[in-house]
Amino acid sequence: MPYTALYRKFRPQEFEDVRGQEHIVTTLKNQIKAERIGHAYLFCGTRGTGKTTIAKIFAKAVNCESPVEGSPCGICKSCRAIAAGSSMNVIEIDAASNNGVDNIREIREEVAYSPAEGKYKVYIIDEVHMLSIGAFNALLKTLEEPPSYVIFILATTEAHKIPITILSRCQRYDFRRISIDTISARLEELLSREQVGAEPKAVRYIAKAADGSMRDALSLLDQCIAFYLGESLTYDHVLEVLGAVDVEVFSGMLRKIIAQDIIGAIALLEELLVQGREPGQFVVDFTWYLRNLLLLQSSDNMEDVLDISSENLALLKEEAQMADGEQLMRYIRIFSELSNQIRYAAQKRVLIEIALIKLCKPEMERDYGSLAQRVAQLEQKLEQGAFVPAMAAQEHGFQDPAAHLPGREEGREEGTAKKLPKAIPEDIREAVENWRPIIEGLSSGLKNYLKAAHLSLAGENQLLVVLDDEVAEGFVSTEAHMEELKEGISQRIGKEVEVKIQRNETGQPFEESYVDLGNVIKQAINMEITIEDEDE
Ligand SMILES: [Zn+2]
Repeated sequence: MPYTALYRKFRPQEFEDVRGQEHIVTTLKNQIKAERIGHAYLFCGTRGTGKTTIAKIFAKAVNCESPVEGSPCGICKSCRAIAAGSSMNVIEIDAASNNGVDNIREIREEVAYSPAEGKYKVYIIDEVHMLSIGAFNALLKTLEEPPSYVIFILATTEAHKIPITILSRCQRYDFRRISIDTISARLEELLSREQVGAEPKAVRYIAKAADGSMRDALSLLDQCIAFYLGESLTYDHVLEVLGAVDVEVFSGMLRKIIAQDIIGAIALLEELLVQGREPGQFVVDFTWYLRNLLLLQSSDNMEDVLDISSENLALLKEEAQMADGEQLMRYIRIFSELSNQIRYAAQKRVLIEIALIKLCKPEMERDYGSLAQRVAQLEQKLEQGAFVPAMAAQEHGFQDPAAHLPGREEGREEGTAKKLPKAIPEDIREAVENWRPIIEGLSSGLKNYLKAAHLSLAGENQLLVVLDDEVAEGFVSTEAHMEELKEGISQRIGKEVEVKIQRNETGQPFEESYVDLGNVIKQAINMEITIEDEDE
């Protein structure tokens, strides 16, 4: 016997089998009982929530010879014809492929003839938002004066794309995403009818992955059953078939993010992708994992809601301690944005990597959540004494730059470019802020050496470009290259800046011997942003 997809096999034939849309079913049944049937209905909602299924049952019910409590009897001639797809009274049109004026004109011509048998002709137009403007206008004419025996059911996932003139003539029904509980219960029911054993956890995972769509849930279940045909369904099987990732992996990922270990996080991602995990699924699952952490933090009694094994719960509780709520919300926000972007993106992996970097480096973002996290990080560094050198520098009296800043030449011998200047000249500041775009515009050899360069201040008004080795210094210092660099700067910021090239001969890392101008300016910019925010 050929395998029939569960979705087809168990497509509801009567209202009682429809799950999760009780508010709609009740209203429609009442209309049939009271014989107050409208001529135009609009069914809106995400995919797989039962729009066309309910439309078909409704079509059956209005034509049924002896409906029971508003539901089709299922045994009369009309019910059987509709169920078999041989009835002339139910016309299904996919607007995605029949979206032209001519398609709708055809309908208008047909509509003129009353049904040969039965009471109503029901036109179900799926994906109706795909109709062209001309087609909508043609449809509108029919909706304005519908024959008494015609019912239109327009189904759409994107109601906002439908002209108001059409909307205003329809009874509108909004289909809800179906809850995980409801989907799980339905899956359990069908599995027992099919006599396939399954772990509750496995079923729930599928229900969760379906994201509110019963149709998706059933096709995911199909995939899992088909892969392990004849075996009972385990959680591990489901993870494997759906390309999903286990909680332990997320735990590892979160720890890397909290430790701001970008390389570690990206390496872990790489590992997952090499194992054949699906990038989109990873994003959805990781978001879900973060949400669980947040729930655990917000209340003690969340164990039941979370639906995870006790060993994973222990792990999760430990992690819930590691990150604070605001931090988690920021992570969740970034990852939910990502799950929207990634759906149709070609470079899924790159997008995930960028998101991971954002999570590790809050300084790359400028919204309130990231600022809060940055402040927390600074506080932590202060506690650890990371800023002592700079503060010690202040104690030594650098308030008076004229007295203490090195002259243009002696700076080099003393390595005193390390001293903090009181003010950074505006044009140098601009040059530093624009450094990346400036060097992007230079010839490739120069660009490559300058990419590795560090920026500091020489004297009071010279941009000091510090290079690591002799070769680089020699290359950049040539008259032609110096000219090119200065030209690049003035083109970008509209000002001439004096530039001095120097090789770091101190034997120490740059940061320890010089004032890192890039970093100083970055911190100053961050302060300004904070102040602006307060003013608003
Ligand atoms: Zn019937």
